[in-house]
Amino acid sequence: MTNPAETSAAPYPAATRVVFPVEPYEPSDPRFGENVRGAGGLFGIHLGEDVCAVAGTVVRSVADGLVVYSGFHPGSAEKGNWGNIVIVGHRHPVSGADFFSLYGHLGPGAKPAGDLVAVGEPLGAVGAAYTAENGWWEAHLHFAIYTGPWTGSVLPGYFREGSDRTRPEHWTDPSAFIRSFLAEPYLTVVS
Ligand SMILES: [Zn+2]
Repeated sequence: MTNPAETSAAPYPAATRVVFPVEPYEPSDPRFGENVRGAGGLFGIHLGEDVCAVAGTVVRSVADGLVVYSGFHPGSAEKGNWGNIVIVGHRHPVSGADFFSLYGHLGPGAKPAGDLVAVGEPLGAVGAAYTAENGWWEAHLHFAIYTGPWTGSVLPGYFREGSDRTRPEHWTDPSAFIRSFLAEPYLTVVS
């Protein structure tokens, strides 16, 4: 489990090379920023992107970074949750700003908080469908980019009006963010 006192040490490693977290990278629904409705009404604004991936698919760190959070949030069959979630801190090599990559619905054995990881290094694997290990969802990866501030706490997957857990403006479209490195001639998106 995370210990904020040990894992909030900035600056984080610079993200000079980036990769998509799974290969191939095929976003499904919901996409980033979509309003999701469920049986109980508005569920919230999706803060990341759901990516098609079968159970066991290796999930890789999108850049050099420091694991700042690793925890198990099993939820229930009635109310899903994260399963295992990993959050990695990085420094943007151009702006110098911290950002965080988030990987949800992983199976057991995910990287622990405090570990330094290299770009492309495995963080874990997609969890089995409809079990506690993936938080009771169809097998998939929830991938998100959070721009802070980092408080040491687990981050939500949705924003609900009236919630003080996060703000939508602290999140960015993860596909667009990864691709933005293509626009910087001295940065590299590696496949
Ligand atoms: Zn999601």
